[in-house]
Amino acid sequence: MKAAVLTAFNEPLEIKDVPEPELTDDGAIVEVKACGICRSDWHGWKGEWTGFLAPLPMIGGHEMSGIVKAVGKNVHKVKVGDRVVVPFTCGDGTCHHCLEGHSNVCDNQTMPGFTYNGGFAEYAHVPVADFNLIPLPEEVGFEQAAGMGCRFMTAYHGVLSVGQVKPGEWVAVYGAGGVGLSAIQIATAAGANVIAVDIAQDKLDFATRMGAVHAVNSKDTDPVEAIKEITHGGAHVSIDALGINATLQSSLKSVQRKGRAVQIGMTPMGKEGEIPITVNSIIADEVSFLGSFGMPRSEFPYLLSQVATKKLQPGDLVTATTNLSGIIDVYNDMSNFNVNGVTVITDFTS
Ligand SMILES: [Zn+2]
Ligand SMILES: [Zn+2]
Repeated sequence: MKAAVLTAFNEPLEIKDVPEPELTDDGAIVEVKACGICRSDWHGWKGEWTGFLAPLPMIGGHEMSGIVKAVGKNVHKVKVGDRVVVPFTCGDGTCHHCLEGHSNVCDNQTMPGFTYNGGFAEYAHVPVADFNLIPLPEEVGFEQAAGMGCRFMTAYHGVLSVGQVKPGEWVAVYGAGGVGLSAIQIATAAGANVIAVDIAQDKLDFATRMGAVHAVNSKDTDPVEAIKEITHGGAHVSIDALGINATLQSSLKSVQRKGRAVQIGMTPMGKEGEIPITVNSIIADEVSFLGSFGMPRSEFPYLLSQVATKKLQPGDLVTATTNLSGIIDVYNDMSNFNVNGVTVITDFTS
């Protein structure tokens, strides 16, 4: 099969023929029909997440949908021919977190494209398939499903489950990339008033199309002051979708007393990811600083029902489609922060 293989960090991926993945007893082989290209893939490609990435050579891609081509002998629910989407945080289905519905924090978590070969290939193997493969409703296309993972599903969990966003609340979203734009669409659908913050005007324009009622360009405006003014004291919920020092700090300072600051954007691994925060303000203002990671499989039925009825439209975030050779162009654009929306691979032959 054709695959985009990561053989050396920060170098072009090799597009070449590799053996098809081997089927395990509890796993399934998925013929990949669409796979999103994400900043997390870029982090892996840059060599920033080596502690966690499978040894090279490996195949990235964690936002995939496709058709089941083969199942192992212990797989009973998933059938050959099923249309499926794969959560980027896969669980073992047996630890207490999985059993309690929180597979996104599974004790034995695996991730396609990071801990094992992912969807930048014609076929991908998914372990514990009965647990990890989610059936796709008829109404949801492969491209839209790829647009859903990981950014849209991550935002869904962050906004609704962790952030507990309610109708009429003010929600600030820092970073109008894939996660941020998703969070804006989802919080808006939940009835919140969303303020988007970014340094790029074209991203802010996109954010407005996704439903943001205010757009703050933090290149020339102090976003914390702007948000306090718009909301008369601070947002109920602030989401940092980027994960750098400046956005994390500002997001935390943007919430009102008793507010919730949801951290979705991953900071760099190691020392650079250790960000100082003013703990006394968190205590005195009773602010909740909440981590949010991926989305458990237990939330998929709710997300998919809203996508099937078009109340949520992850496909709106897909701005381009490409082939395996096109991944490197997207990585280069990401290096220059020159990406607007989501690019999805739909051609796996070249
Ligand atoms: Zn588990
Ligand atoms: Zn992703």
